[in-house]
Amino acid sequence: MVNGKENTNYVLNCFTCGEKYNDLQKPMRRCKKCGGNLRIIYNYDKIARKINRRVLESRKPGVWKYKELLPLKNASKIINLGEGGTKLHKCEKLAKILGVKELYAKDETRNPTGTFKDRPATVGILKALEFNIKAVVIASDGNAGPATAAYAAKAGLKCYVFMPVITPWERIIQVEMFGGKVIRVEGTISECIDLLTKAQEQYGWYQLTTAIPCNPYQAEGPKTIAYEICEDLKWETPDWVVIPVGGGGLLTANWKGFREFFRLGFIKKLPKIAAVQAEGCAPLVKAYNERKKGEEIENWGIPESLAISIGVPFPLDGASALEAVKESKGYAVAVSDKEILKMEKLLGETEGVFAEPAGIASLAGVKKLIKEGVIKKEEKIVFEVTGSGLKDFQSAKKMCEKPPRIKVNLEEIESALKYWENKR
Ligand SMILES: [Zn+2]
Repeated sequence: MVNGKENTNYVLNCFTCGEKYNDLQKPMRRCKKCGGNLRIIYNYDKIARKINRRVLESRKPGVWKYKELLPLKNASKIINLGEGGTKLHKCEKLAKILGVKELYAKDETRNPTGTFKDRPATVGILKALEFNIKAVVIASDGNAGPATAAYAAKAGLKCYVFMPVITPWERIIQVEMFGGKVIRVEGTISECIDLLTKAQEQYGWYQLTTAIPCNPYQAEGPKTIAYEICEDLKWETPDWVVIPVGGGGLLTANWKGFREFFRLGFIKKLPKIAAVQAEGCAPLVKAYNERKKGEEIENWGIPESLAISIGVPFPLDGASALEAVKESKGYAVAVSDKEILKMEKLLGETEGVFAEPAGIASLAGVKKLIKEGVIKKEEKIVFEVTGSGLKDFQSAKKMCEKPPRIKVNLEEIESALKYWENKR
């Protein structure tokens, strides 16, 4: 029994009580019956009659090639900035250094605003248009905010972004350049979300914060990363997918994506999922180590890490992310800022990919899990690089030398070369 009359490919399904709802004219944020979180489930039998591996392979890359598996009533008016279809690098040099056979980087820095957050943004903004909304609002420490502002600009919607004061200026400027209005909040990202959630009723805002309890539709965007990994590996599932975790939405979405392709018969097995957090803010890893349930994850307090984008003290999608880790027989691990920065430099130097600290925590996690014997050397590993280093110069600067400066003089070149030679 489904509430409401509309007929779509999908319904909204309550995590807690199991109630199902059709997607009606007004956005739903939580279950009307019990207040539980909502997830989107599809009519997979119907979809399997429409698409198969060959159909997907014939389409142009990007988030919207999977439109049958995204929660839109009418996928004809897409707001597209070129999101998705990102490169899966085979990291041969890096694999050699880490002593593993097969290692891949899913390079989400190549999205239009430099992060995977363009995937939830394109879905969220299209839903806003579908619901005839004029202004959107989001809490963000600098990845989802600029992404939402960019898609709002393209769609002609007003956009307010609530950012914690620790947000790097590169990201504030990025929002403003897309016409978004930034409000800086003296608190953590979790406190920003609380504030926004209280205010949204009063101001009638449509919230696109990238957490399922804030907006269940946007949460469908990032699962297309899992779809693309399957396709790029010629439908062979990797043994491990290693993902940085802040709020937990990305990991939850990845697991959903792999499970959906498994359900549709496009892949034959599921990967193990590893969650990586920064030691200075690791509420999910703590719960995992203490063998707690998802709903027992505790608020971490003040984050102390330069991996700002994953410094989420209370992960709103943490419960589902932790369950996904356990269900997949995966693992959760925390890494230090030092380990993160080392990997940021190493990825740049070996593969030509410049990641932000949060975006490369995954690789630091890979290294640690290989060392601990959790990941075996012969296993096929994918790590997700979630955001561009161009969004956080201050952290990257810590790993860089001050380059020599010379006069316009041929003889001075020699001393400059010597300087670099000594740095090796
Ligand atoms: Zn419910």
